[in-house]
Amino acid sequence: MLTLAYIVIYVLIFAIGASIGSFLNVLVYRIPRELDFVKGFSSCPSCGRRLTPLDLVPIFSWLFLKGRCRYCGVKIPPRYILVEAACGAAGLLLWIFEPSHTHALLFFAVFCVLLTMALIDADTQTISDGLNIALGVLAVVSIWAGPEVDIQSRLIGLAAVSAPLFVITLFIEGAFGLGDVFLMISAGFLLGWQGALVAFFIGLVIGGVYGAFTLALGKKGRKDHFAFGPCLAVGIFASLLSGERIIDWYFSTF
Ligand SMILES: [Zn+2]
Repeated sequence: MLTLAYIVIYVLIFAIGASIGSFLNVLVYRIPRELDFVKGFSSCPSCGRRLTPLDLVPIFSWLFLKGRCRYCGVKIPPRYILVEAACGAAGLLLWIFEPSHTHALLFFAVFCVLLTMALIDADTQTISDGLNIALGVLAVVSIWAGPEVDIQSRLIGLAAVSAPLFVITLFIEGAFGLGDVFLMISAGFLLGWQGALVAFFIGLVIGGVYGAFTLALGKKGRKDHFAFGPCLAVGIFASLLSGERIIDWYFSTF
């Protein structure tokens, strides 16, 4: 019976995660358009029909409607279902593998903020100030809820990456945006300076690989900008999950 109870709990946690993912899809659409994201009903961006609860069941609605609006047949991008599935999976994995549920909740909240930020940056090349503030608030909460980073390291972390990044934005136009600088302030306080360096390094590697890839495919020219926020977001979350292990590994290997 214990296993059945566990299965029910796991399915429930996945469903809650996927529902939150569904809400993040709404945020990604509404924040750049400066729409109110609490009030108002969800409607199809193409035909404007108000969506019923039946159209809004995470994952299932998309599968059932084969990725199209029920009313006008416009294609709903697969990204919607991927975000829902990713949030469900992230919630479940954190719940199972993080030793404390407080950690799991905090990490999940950080995951949601970073995912929303990355998607908006990918769409609009802008990092939302509101989401940077949200990450800053979570960073303050993390003083009590973990990860165990001492306050001195957090304070140095505020500037460790963001200050050099700011100088670079002043001198090399278009290299990074101010949004990236603000992101590394919040992330620095969350991770401490060592964790922030790890996060930035991972972000640079991912950005470099992605940039080389798009150049090679001829999709973008050497002068084209691309959103660096998603790369930083991946780096920050990876560092949050295993930054200490990466630092230990680095110092024991080199
Ligand atoms: Zn429609």
